[in-house]
Amino acid sequence: MTTRYYLWTVGCQMNQADSEKLAAGFERLGLKATDRIERADVVVLNTCSVRQHAEDRAYSKLGRVRELKREKPGLKVALMGCMVGLKTDDLRKRFPQVDVFARPQQFDPIMELVEAPAEDLGGEFWPATYAVPEGPAAYVPIVHGCNKFCTYCIVPYRRGREKSRPMDEIVREVAYLTVNGVREVTLLGQTVEAYGHDLGGQPDLGDLMRELSALARLARIRFLTSYPKDMTHRILEAVAELPKVMECFSLPFQAGSDRVLESMRRGYTKAEYLEKIAELRALMPNAGITTDVIVGYPGETEADFEETCELLERLRFDKVHVAAYSPRPGTIAFRTLDDDVLAAEKARRLRRVEEIEARISQEINTTYVGSVQEILVEGVRGEQPFGRTRTGKLVHVDTPVRAGSLVGVRIDHAGPFSLRGMPRDALVLA
Ligand code: SF4
Repeated sequence: MTTRYYLWTVGCQMNQADSEKLAAGFERLGLKATDRIERADVVVLNTCSVRQHAEDRAYSKLGRVRELKREKPGLKVALMGCMVGLKTDDLRKRFPQVDVFARPQQFDPIMELVEAPAEDLGGEFWPATYAVPEGPAAYVPIVHGCNKFCTYCIVPYRRGREKSRPMDEIVREVAYLTVNGVREVTLLGQTVEAYGHDLGGQPDLGDLMRELSALARLARIRFLTSYPKDMTHRILEAVAELPKVMECFSLPFQAGSDRVLESMRRGYTKAEYLEKIAELRALMPNAGITTDVIVGYPGETEADFEETCELLERLRFDKVHVAAYSPRPGTIAFRTLDDDVLAAEKARRLRRVEEIEARISQEINTTYVGSVQEILVEGVRGEQPFGRTRTGKLVHVDTPVRAGSLVGVRIDHAGPFSLRGMPRDALVLA
């Protein structure tokens, strides 16, 4: 009888990539996916603990799993991802319905649970197992973990220290993806420019991009998330020079006030961040840049918050991911700082940033109207194909186009979150 697995994923692209890889491992063993948890023989919950909301969703799923396990005692259950940390014994007591706990990329305990043969185990990166691509765009983790220890962040405790994958292994994986229909890869790291410092010869992200650019079937390379201090001029030059690398950056600044940045231990000042953006825009004046901002961090005054707003107005990002600070157990901020900004005040600051973002995004997007943008069609939602510009703008295409096509689209309409247009001509795939 076929064994069915239900794989539930929340959180960042890294978690999605881990789940896709695990699914590939399951499929190799002959397991089949189901999207109905009550039909599953194996349940894997791939969790995130960056925000309370994500943990709450996992608790709700665990409640459902407890009921199912009562009805079906043979059900095998794994909890993986960032909720699994150092205190696994506590988790075991709280969630007896879970058979195994696995940290991010720790696939072996889950494969043992499904009685995989010994050759299907083996190593953190599972070098021989690649995700089965579902479309023309795929995520490829290149460096795991983080060494930065920003005070509010749980990632370094859950994902461990920065560890780069060998370059030849990444090139092999991307080559495999391209022969299976992938045209665009997004290289992933919590701090993606940290890539390579722990490898022999210390290659950097630019070196990896050069190697990948040589793959004939690959049309586009993206990368995220950037960390200002790790983004060297050499890497920026590689992005500017290599035609297959998209001039699109995700570069969090988090706060506009030096006092708050220092308290967050972000490792840079406002002036240094501004210099980095100036350097980037000198090389690539039309680059797309998105950022992340936290409002209501402990001790953030109205004046500090105003500095954040001023920075947003001055730098004019394409998109701003804004979050109200929420204390995460296990972090430095949780242990040492009072969560002293009132919830209503956090909500007000959040709304203000959202308003600034919506206005500026609309203004920037409007400048695209009338231009022809190179779009890789990633899929079809409803009846409408969609893809992204080189700068990362989401574009809905007003006529059927095959997924995987690289097309020139004339932009006719701009909203704050996306653009719309008609294909003008087919571009030649690189
Ligand atoms: S750089 Fe800071 S915010 Fe980003 S993952 Fe590392 S510790 Fe977390």
